[in-house]
Amino acid sequence: MTHPSLIVHGGAWFIPPDLRTAYIAGCREAAREGWAVLQAGASALDAVEAAVRVLEDDPTFDAGRGSYFNQAGAVEMDAIIMDGRALNLGAVAAVQRVRHPISLARRILMRADLNFVVGRGAEALAQEVGLPLCDPAELLGKHDTGGWAPPLPADTVGAVALDARGDLAVATSTGGTPDKWPGRVGDSPLVGCGAYADNHSGAASATGSGEMLMRIVPSKMACDLLAAGTPAMAAARAVIRYLHARVGGYGGLILLDREGHVGLAHNTPNMSYAYITPEGEIVAGAEVSET
Ligand code: ASP
Repeated sequence: MTHPSLIVHGGAWFIPPDLRTAYIAGCREAAREGWAVLQAGASALDAVEAAVRVLEDDPTFDAGRGSYFNQAGAVEMDAIIMDGRALNLGAVAAVQRVRHPISLARRILMRADLNFVVGRGAEALAQEVGLPLCDPAELLGKHDTGGWAPPLPADTVGAVALDARGDLAVATSTGGTPDKWPGRVGDSPLVGCGAYADNHSGAASATGSGEMLMRIVPSKMACDLLAAGTPAMAAARAVIRYLHARVGGYGGLILLDREGHVGLAHNTPNMSYAYITPEGEIVAGAEVSET
């Protein structure tokens, strides 16, 4: 039996000092929820979905409730969930009226005939599988009250888990970049970019400027480094260094290897995160030092 492990992030960017506590508390709560699911004996897939649903509900983060507006004044969300056992995945992009995009992605993962569904088709599928569509007003959060938006991609969320059976899973969810072009999709729902999970290597979730991230396929790169024997922390750091060296990108990455060792790195001033130590304690913060 494997010792379970879990890590979540709440985006890599500059966190204004007055929001710092909310980011850390939100990540802590998501980790606590995901960990409770794992402790109850459920799967890594259940745990990452549960953790990301907490972050989608929290308007602090740019996912589900609290997603940024695009240039048309609408919310369009992207999400992906991946199962490390047989590499099944489910992804959605540009969905507008789905309260929990990660749960719609999970329903897609469960279907053999679909991997990635966008826009209206995804919303129709949500209705077909019994996930009620919400009023777009339900998705409004702190970001939409004063018209304030950060100048950079900000607070996408993600979770990576390893369960007692040794199975890995990952989930990533986002409202995308603030003030984005309608229909714009970043790295987050793209397999290997915003997320990747493979029981043979590890699982990773990325955040940051999607146009740069998707060029280097960072989550798959992280898993390949783990498969080659790179330790978890070194693998996360190598991907973020490569992101900047190769395409001048900024962002962050969280990962777990097959034994549940944690890796996390970012080259932005902050990245909110929380993970569970082998002793079952929650460690949460808003920046990771390289020492
Ligand atoms: N990567 C996301 C995107 O480009 C943004 C973020 O991570 O905050 O849509």
